[in-house]
Amino acid sequence: MRFTSGRPSSDRGHDIARAMWPDVTQKDWNDWQWQFVNRVSSIKTLGILLGLSADRLSAYEGLVSTYKYAVTPYYLSLINWPDPHDPIKKQCLPDLRETTFRLPGSDEDPLAEERHSPVPGLIHRYPDRALVVLTNMCAMYCRHCNRKRNWKNQGERTLGRAALNRIIAYIKNTPVIREVIISGGDPLLVSLGFLDEILWGISAIPHIDAIRIGTRIPVVMPMRITDELCRLLSRRRPIWLNTHFNHPAEITDAAISACDKILKAGIPISNHTVLLKGVNDSAHTILSLCRALQRHMIRPYYLFHCDAVTGTDHFRTGIQKGIEIMNVLQGNLGGLAVPDYVVDLPSGGGKARVMPSQLVSIDDNMAVFKTFEGGDIHYLAPNGADSR
Ligand code: SF4
Repeated sequence: MRFTSGRPSSDRGHDIARAMWPDVTQKDWNDWQWQFVNRVSSIKTLGILLGLSADRLSAYEGLVSTYKYAVTPYYLSLINWPDPHDPIKKQCLPDLRETTFRLPGSDEDPLAEERHSPVPGLIHRYPDRALVVLTNMCAMYCRHCNRKRNWKNQGERTLGRAALNRIIAYIKNTPVIREVIISGGDPLLVSLGFLDEILWGISAIPHIDAIRIGTRIPVVMPMRITDELCRLLSRRRPIWLNTHFNHPAEITDAAISACDKILKAGIPISNHTVLLKGVNDSAHTILSLCRALQRHMIRPYYLFHCDAVTGTDHFRTGIQKGIEIMNVLQGNLGGLAVPDYVVDLPSGGGKARVMPSQLVSIDDNMAVFKTFEGGDIHYLAPNGADSR
């Protein structure tokens, strides 16, 4: 068979997929349930994929028993195996540094989400927004995940109806909340009936203006974006969908077709990217990513500095790296395609935008700006309307 949904630039990943699932039909490959059931998650397969000796394999056993792994055949098929620095492989396959490498300041829950959880499954950190952690289940367990603590040493679980009722009651009784973010784990993995119940329950609350869904499904298992799911989302608007492309190699025909369906259902898509060392920490990579996202009507929304989460330290760059990248983006992209570079502050301090400033100096009469080409422009700005 010929896989039609992999990475266009390389067929090597497809060769591995063909070897692992020689009899799969195209119909099955494009079926999200087949993809989900056939996720690669065993230590034995990891040993084969990484070519590990018995000694090394036992070290990985310890790692995987702490931080499990699971990868859809689709996402696995995007790996360019001859490339030792392949950005897809780094995001999906475990790395021993997850348990052996620590930078100062890392913490299981640096954003203090647990402390801001008034009822189980709900995080209320900003006055006007609340986040529902609907499930800890993901199609793929991203190695850089900032909620790694939720899948550590745990099975896959989704909130029950009683927990959901408590969450809805809390939101109803807290009129200051105007936006609800449904996240996880991946909320698009729960049954459509349950998802509809949640969306209906939240959208019926009069003070809720918007629902945002946080999902990596279009990137890691795009087959899940079915017509039925899109009809459901369309019925419950206003819904905003936030997804998570980190690298241009993730922008495949299948991913774009999934996003197109969502857009045609009337749901705007924004993207957040996490700045990851060795994956996308170059201006060229982020610039290409933002251009490709804009081409497909996905708004680059945030470039997140990688949080200081235990088990992800090997992915962290310096903040200076993000500023360097933003300088290049600002000079080479129209505003619609420039994400905000954001550091999520520890202890629940909230998001801080770290945008390079073009303002060099200012006084009562004059402002001096740095142009994107590096020159200085003096802008006459005498005390005007303010002082009259
Ligand atoms: S899909 Fe999101 S919640 Fe799931 S592992 Fe990846 S980053 Fe974490």
